[in-house]
Amino acid sequence: GGEEASGTGEVVRDCLPLVRHLIRKQQISVREDLHAEGLAAISRTALQQVLVNLIVNAIHAMPDGGELLLASEDHVKDGRNGVALTVSDTGVGMEPEVASRIFDPFFTTKKGTGTGLGLSISHMLVTEAEGTIKVKSTPGEGTAFTIWLPEFSGRA
Ligand code: ADP
Ligand code: MG
Repeated sequence: GGEEASGTGEVVRDCLPLVRHLIRKQQISVREDLHAEGLAAISRTALQQVLVNLIVNAIHAMPDGGELLLASEDHVKDGRNGVALTVSDTGVGMEPEVASRIFDPFFTTKKGTGTGLGLSISHMLVTEAEGTIKVKSTPGEGTAFTIWLPEFSGRA
């Protein structure tokens, strides 16, 4: 690890064209709050895969419209420089029993349509990069995922 770096703002912006049709169809407004200056120590493709998984889930959670927030900021964690990324929605939210299982492989509440792999793969990619991924959700109000990734130090 540590040999690859991603500008989080650019990666977030790269994700949006992939989901633009869903966002239009469901009348979702997108708010960007991108302030991170540091690069995250993760490959661009891995970070894009994680973010697309989170964004598609957020859109699925807002069938009647809502707001998708994409945020980034530099964030020191346990004395280590890093980048915090937030993907949050104003969608259906989750009960605690659901939220506690979402990172398990094949766990899905989307009967017949979900693979239940998006979040387990995302968790694996973030953990491999020595980062963390956490969720905070309230039924009927929405869900926020926060990812923390160490900052790229420039050393291989
Ligand atoms: P899938 O999307 O194929 O079901 P995921 O691993 O991406 O698999 O997500 C697992 C489950 O987590 C979903 O089925 C859903 O119940 C829940 N979930 C994930 N993101 C959200 C969200 N933003 N709002 C509400 N529920 C969510
Ligand atoms: Mg999914």
